Amino acid sequence: MAEVIKDWDAYDRVAVPLAGALPLKGVKPGRPVSSGEALARRPDPRRGDVHASINGLIEEINEFEIIIRRDDEAVGEPPQPVDLAAVPANELPPRLKELGLDAPRTDEPVIISTLASEPGLNFAPALWGEHRETVLAGVNLLARLCPGHKITWAVRQPGEAPEGAETVIIKGAYPHTLPSLIKRAITGRNDANGAGVFGARELHLLGRAARTGRPVTRMALTLGGVSYFVPVGTRAIDLLTFANLGPGCGDAVILGGLVRGRGLARLERGLDKTAEALHLARRADLGGSLQPCRACGQCARACPLGLPVDLPAARPPEEWLAAPPDGILDACLLCGACALACPAQRPLMSLVRLRAKAAMVTP
Ligand code: SF4
Ligand code: SF4
Repeated sequence: MAEVIKDWDAYDRVAVPLAGALPLKGVKPGRPVSSGEALARRPDPRRGDVHASINGLIEEINEFEIIIRRDDEAVGEPPQPVDLAAVPANELPPRLKELGLDAPRTDEPVIISTLASEPGLNFAPALWGEHRETVLAGVNLLARLCPGHKITWAVRQPGEAPEGAETVIIKGAYPHTLPSLIKRAITGRNDANGAGVFGARELHLLGRAARTGRPVTRMALTLGGVSYFVPVGTRAIDLLTFANLGPGCGDAVILGGLVRGRGLARLERGLDKTAEALHLARRADLGGSLQPCRACGQCARACPLGLPVDLPAARPPEEWLAAPPDGILDACLLCGACALACPAQRPLMSLVRLRAKAAMVTP
């Protein structure tokens, strides 16, 4: 059966994240708003502005979010569509900002990936299938944003790319589907962020803006294995309740993919456009153990960068936090391949998150 993404609308309010954006004059509690109406501007010219994602009444504004209570009949100031096709290429970035989109980070070459990047992110086949036209509109918009850049497609099979496109076939399973490793396979360069690699989801957001000329108010998200289009600012708790995934004592809610996702502490939090998935990890299934290291080296052999992760992994976990930096994991991608390979199920994701430079919080 073909993959589909359903529209999800079992919400009664959304909490649109501000993340540093400044509310516009007149945006205050009690005001009716229309879906797509601008609510706040980001001072950073590369970061997209903030919009109402549903029709409703502003219920609360705090430091972190604007909470909108659903009212399908509410009418604020609906946005006027922008004809992006008529906008000169050099004027596209500010127009995309106004439509709520961050300026894409482009590199040479620009890489389009048709692959699902990580276990637990299930929307790629449906976006490249049922929503292909919109995704391709995103590719065209991206090409206009970086004229002269070579565009390379990373695919499983040649037929996945448009005729005549330059393609590279990616054969390996995860972690070779990660943007960082796709970029490495194509350019030979190491880049933990995989800048310049675009997947179906980002392209679909661009394509929606290109086709409708309206601010992006919905995004694809995988919820416990099923993918939906949900309003930006949907609260994690509403999605989990809908899917009967209410966490119990000791369970963890994971925001993102099953391997690289992070624990989500505040379930009333509204999800921003970067939220790709929500999963519930039951305490009983969390895995990991404190079995001693067997010095088998399988973790190091599984590492796509060849990092000697077995050296710090052999130490007792209580030393992982205290040990001074040794540089062994500086290039770590946090892909989790080492943890998946460990026969002793040692909690290696905790190790790499604690010790890897890539995991350091930057301002
Ligand atoms: S998470 Fe593990 S396998 Fe992946 S790059 Fe880091 S050390 Fe290597
Ligand atoms: S795979 Fe697990 S048991 Fe084997 S060396 Fe690495 S941490 Fe130790």
